[in-house]
Amino acid sequence: MVSAADLFSLKGNTAIVTGGTSGIGRCVANYLASAGAGVAIVARHGDAARQAAEEVAAEYGVKTVGIGCDVTDEASVTAMVDTVSGAIGIADVLFNNAGINIPETALDVSYADWKRILDVNLNGAFLTARTFARKLISEKKPGSVINVASISASIIVQPQSQAAYNASKAAVVHLTKSLAIEWVKYGIRVNVVSPGYVWTEMNQIVDKKITEVWMRSTPFGRFATPDEMAGGVLYFASKASSYATGSELLIDGGITCL
Ligand code: NDP
Repeated sequence: MVSAADLFSLKGNTAIVTGGTSGIGRCVANYLASAGAGVAIVARHGDAARQAAEEVAAEYGVKTVGIGCDVTDEASVTAMVDTVSGAIGIADVLFNNAGINIPETALDVSYADWKRILDVNLNGAFLTARTFARKLISEKKPGSVINVASISASIIVQPQSQAAYNASKAAVVHLTKSLAIEWVKYGIRVNVVSPGYVWTEMNQIVDKKITEVWMRSTPFGRFATPDEMAGGVLYFASKASSYATGSELLIDGGITCL
């Protein structure tokens, strides 16, 4: 038996965190570093990514790199994975977290917005996972992908309408299971965390009348903090979850029980 600390240790691992400059990603980057992993912080705004990487290195004493990359751009994702390898080592943990929401009704949403949401949340997650996996497979190394879906993959949250976001996140859950089965023979596990309402920049700009409805419908009656997502990510990133692949972990204050 190993100790609990060893079970969750990421010493010797290298993690990529997409959407790592803000909200859940920025917070989880700290926990991955605190568990001993080298961390690559990825977001479109390269300056913010580099700044976050410097902060993580200063606080946790691990290797870090900050990279500007749009997850919807295949060349940008390929260059990002190569840069990580050169700067801090081949990544064997991917927290595939970058995502956006533009809440609009299905009748009104512009086709451009519809495609943008699917492009970032689904296509971006796919491109990043595939590029990460191809690198690992070529190096004959095992690894772990942790995708990020949402309660919106399971339920239709109210009062806002957001069919594109809901559809994108449901697709991320099924993508997770598909990749888990395809890549099991390479030792690459693929799992997904589905948060409930988390107090991040994405929600801090939402009208209070809407967030009050959300809180009334959440058994916990409050937002999660980004820190409350970290335990699930550490579980999937580490040997603590060595037999888990294709799993969805809902961390949602009980909302999907209703
Ligand atoms: P934030 O809005 O706080 O942060 C989003 C991050 O993604 C930023 O770092 C942003 O940086 C980056 N990003 C956005 N678009 C791209 C892109 N095309 N390429 C690379 N990076 C990109 O998000 P949250 O922390 O709130 O959410 C993180 C994830 O969790 C998302 O997938 C979201 O759908 C999911 N989620 C969030 C919930 C919540 O309540 N907050 C609930 C359920 C799921 P930059 O702008 O520089 O690119």
